[in-house]
Amino acid sequence: MFDVAIIGAGVIGCSIARELSKYNLNVALIEKENDVGNVTTKANSAIIHAGYDAKPGTLKGKLNAKGNLMFDELCRELEVPFKRVGSLVLAFDDDEMKTLGKLYEQGIQNGVPELYILSKEKVLEMDPNISDNIKGALYAKTGGIIGPWEFTIALAENAVENGVNIFLSNEVVDIEKKDFGYRIITNKDTYDTKYVVNCAGLYADKINNMVSNNKMEIIPRRGQYYLLDKTVGNLVKYVIFQCPSKLGKGVLVTPTVHGNLLIGPDAEDLIDKTALNTTSEGLNFIVEVARRSVKTLPLNMAITNFAGLRARTERDDFIIEEAVDAKGFINVAGIESPGLSSAPAISLYVIDILKNIAKKIEKKENFNPYRRAIPKFIELSEDEKNELVKKDKRFGKIICRCESITEGEIVSAIHRNVGARTVDAVKRRVRAGMGRCQGGFCSPRVIEILARELGVEMTEIEKDHEGSYILTGPTKSEVQ
Ligand SMILES: Cc1cc2nc3c(=O)[nH]c(=O)nc-3n(C[C@H](O)[C@H](O)[C@H](O)COP(=O)(O)OP(=O)(O)OC[C@H]3O[C@@H](n4cnc5c(N)ncnc54)[C@H](O)[C@@H]3O)c2cc1C
Repeated sequence: MFDVAIIGAGVIGCSIARELSKYNLNVALIEKENDVGNVTTKANSAIIHAGYDAKPGTLKGKLNAKGNLMFDELCRELEVPFKRVGSLVLAFDDDEMKTLGKLYEQGIQNGVPELYILSKEKVLEMDPNISDNIKGALYAKTGGIIGPWEFTIALAENAVENGVNIFLSNEVVDIEKKDFGYRIITNKDTYDTKYVVNCAGLYADKINNMVSNNKMEIIPRRGQYYLLDKTVGNLVKYVIFQCPSKLGKGVLVTPTVHGNLLIGPDAEDLIDKTALNTTSEGLNFIVEVARRSVKTLPLNMAITNFAGLRARTERDDFIIEEAVDAKGFINVAGIESPGLSSAPAISLYVIDILKNIAKKIEKKENFNPYRRAIPKFIELSEDEKNELVKKDKRFGKIICRCESITEGEIVSAIHRNVGARTVDAVKRRVRAGMGRCQGGFCSPRVIEILARELGVEMTEIEKDHEGSYILTGPTKSEVQ
């Protein structure tokens, strides 16, 4: 019997799992995908927002500003790439200058430190590639960029290290109310638990509706992106926004924490929760809007496009509360942007709710906050490189040429406590296939290594989601 079962291992579920692993509790983290962070968490702008966007008094407002300030310590403990590059919201006319004033006021009320309204001259001095057509900008010094899936994987690894039980490839198909709490039924197994935390992202409505008569509906809102090569990653120094609209924070141009350039997203309400395709209309729109922000936009350096789906509800705020008619069942739903930025503060908020319900939750004495990242061979000194290769010669063999990723790093990614099982899971852990050729050269080698290390046939290796097999059999086998 578990004390707490968390449904969904996106950044929110993993954050809560890690926070719960600080207590003497038996925790289960149940996820339908074959990896953590495999849905909305892997496809977003990767910005740690400062916290001036949301209306004061909302959960978004409170938890974004608080969460933002928790990232330095967390990323140090978990060895996750994070840079406080600062963000700028550009204004192009007097009306937009007024909007900046409102954002500034909201930011102050939400408790955001180091906010400044800057003149056009100052902004262009700070970042000369910003458009000459601006009137001014709101500068938030605490705005940052992060590796969202590295963060999520690190949280999950640290949670497991501290005793959390993780069950991947387990889709929750039903939940029964029992005297002791809840029985969670998945496509693989059954889990009994006193409390449930519903972090199922786009499907949090489905999970809530299994136990509560207070029905919920999640509306998927798609956002599309262009990712540009590292050669143009320094085109802008800051996260560059335009003034927000009813549909959100708008199209941004930003460096990524790994040195690429990211442009997007748009915002389109859909019905289909699996519509992760990009469209020419969406991509053309974001380019047209982004061109207003910067003087040059070298689209010939684009290496890929992708889309993510925000989990929106009619409430227009995060829903983090015990369901009215299901005791001990906590919904963490409608976690659209700034969910990533708020994740650390959301997990503290959920622990407080649990403490109120369970009354007695004791802190563990031996919680280990540290998680060591896989060494990045290319970033080591010559001495460190030599030492590593002496210990394990697979660190001397480059597999991904674009990102200079060695076989040793890939093997390490597979054998971690939340190890990679798919080609894209390897990519998210060590960046093999993340570079300019997008895995054109290294994917076949990664498949070989995965099959060898996991002791399975190469035909059993998936690209990403369940069933996304890459190989069907030996070449020419059909002909013979
Ligand atoms: C276009 C876009 C841009 C964004 N930009 C930013 C940004 O820059 N900064 C920011 O702070 N936020 C941003 N966000 C928001 C942020 O990405 C989300 O708030 C965050 O990723 C939500 O995490 P989650 O864990 O709730 O959801 P998810 O990552 O979707 O995780 C939910 C998990 O639940 C699992 N699940 C679902 N149903 C079941 C079931 N039946 N059984 C078991 N498991 C189940 C899913 O497989 C999934 O892994 C953006 C979002 C989008 C889409």
